[in-house]
Amino acid sequence: MGVCPLCNGLEASTASCPKCERVMEDKGRVMDYFDDYSPYMEIDGMKQIDGYGQTLQLNQCPHLLFCSQCVEDQVVFIQE
Ligand SMILES: [Zn+2]
Ligand SMILES: [Zn+2]
Repeated sequence: MGVCPLCNGLEASTASCPKCERVMEDKGRVMDYFDDYSPYMEIDGMKQIDGYGQTLQLNQCPHLLFCSQCVEDQVVFIQE
């Protein structure tokens, strides 16, 4: 089993916002949000989550990143 550097606080996310290119804030694992927030998630995010089964095989950890400037969120897959 892989160890996600973000979940374990080993590394901060360096992914930048596609709009303003600021470093986006890591909001944690997508699955931690899934139950509470899924009704509010945007369609794009849901599409990416559909690939979740594959991320398990690839040892990737899906994280929700958020840009406070654009109020934009994005799912990224962190390699464990
Ligand atoms: Zn993680
Ligand atoms: Zn932004």
